[in-house]
Amino acid sequence: MASELDDFFANTDLDTIAVRAGQLRTHEGEHSEPIFTTSSYVFESAEAAAKRFSGEEAGNVYSRYTNPTVRVFEQRIAALEGAEAAVATASGMSAILTVCMALLKSGDHVICSRSVFGTTSVLFTKYMAKMGISVTFVNPLDYDLWQNSLTDSTKLLFVETPSNPLCDVVDIARLSEIAHSVSAKLVVDNCFCTPALQQPLKLGADIVVHSATKYLDGQGRCVGGAIAGNAVDMDEALAFVRTCGPTMSAFNAWVFAKGLETLRLRMDAHCSNAMALASWLEEQKQSPSPKVEQVFYAGLPSHKSHELAKKQQRGFGGVLSFRVVGGREEAWRFIDATKIMSLTANLGDAKTTIVHPATTTHGRLSDDEKKEAGITENLIRISVGLESANDLISDLERGMAAL
Ligand SMILES: *Cc1c(COP(=O)(O)O)cnc(C)c1O
Repeated sequence: MASELDDFFANTDLDTIAVRAGQLRTHEGEHSEPIFTTSSYVFESAEAAAKRFSGEEAGNVYSRYTNPTVRVFEQRIAALEGAEAAVATASGMSAILTVCMALLKSGDHVICSRSVFGTTSVLFTKYMAKMGISVTFVNPLDYDLWQNSLTDSTKLLFVETPSNPLCDVVDIARLSEIAHSVSAKLVVDNCFCTPALQQPLKLGADIVVHSATKYLDGQGRCVGGAIAGNAVDMDEALAFVRTCGPTMSAFNAWVFAKGLETLRLRMDAHCSNAMALASWLEEQKQSPSPKVEQVFYAGLPSHKSHELAKKQQRGFGGVLSFRVVGGREEAWRFIDATKIMSLTANLGDAKTTIVHPATTTHGRLSDDEKKEAGITENLIRISVGLESANDLISDLERGMAAL
């Protein structure tokens, strides 16, 4: 249905790929991609059924294995990441689980950045540990520590860049060299940048994972995930999904495939709004009685990752954080005084969200872990949405006035 087109779109620009790659058209001639809400498929004859089941003949059998709408999303995200193939999953977490189950076995060792999504850490410490897979957590910016943590059993290095919520950028090319020195694979969670701003495979990473729930959808509607990489690894991943069942639904795949069509425009708008808010917050530090202590956004020259972010990313992303002068009480007062921003832990939405990491997203960490990760009581994270920057700055002014 779409395969000759894919070779063609492999040589076009990202904006064209986002709109066109993987496009599917049936004999009805519909322009927008159809949603195939079917669990199974019929065969023309008993012999054809046998051939499909044995794999002798390619084609659909059952929607836990393949679904045309899910394939549209997979082909589009693979093309955007510059990957040979992609596999869709039911959530971002099941994407990470799928990578582990496809590539690891008992006795293997993983090195994971300490600054990853909280549930990702739990997946490694609770569930992978049960399977006999060990994990070492490292400060993602300490390259010597990554290097020195390698063992003969290390199979996977796992990183998220930029980090949440302090926007530290990790050098993907440098980390991929460390991984490849022992034939381990580098997995990058590309949720914050998306392929619109960063293509980790082109920088040397082996596998990209996504929570499609965030920017790929972009409007906070569906939960889903994806993995992209070489054909051999993706075959293993697909085999796990088919057998164990963390499959993406056709409806969700359709929402995500449509989301990808506007990904680049949305990411550009998220970036420019975030830059406007970060700059405004940074200016507040100059006031005679400042209420802002520090702003974390890699687009600001004051951020320690500014130069690397400029080199590695096409934009600085939509998430920023800042410390107010004071502690928990001041941070909570600021948050409660905003009127437009939604108080929710979600991110990557058209709607701006605001959250207090120390008591929500990072509440599970011990005091020592929080201190090490820079999650202070006066820290506030904002995922900047697509509302007008002026209105969002007015909201920040309301927060500031409450201090
Ligand atoms: C949300 C998120 C996940 C988990 O994705 P779900 O779709 O919620 O399962 C993984 N990594 C990052 C960086 C996330 O923000």
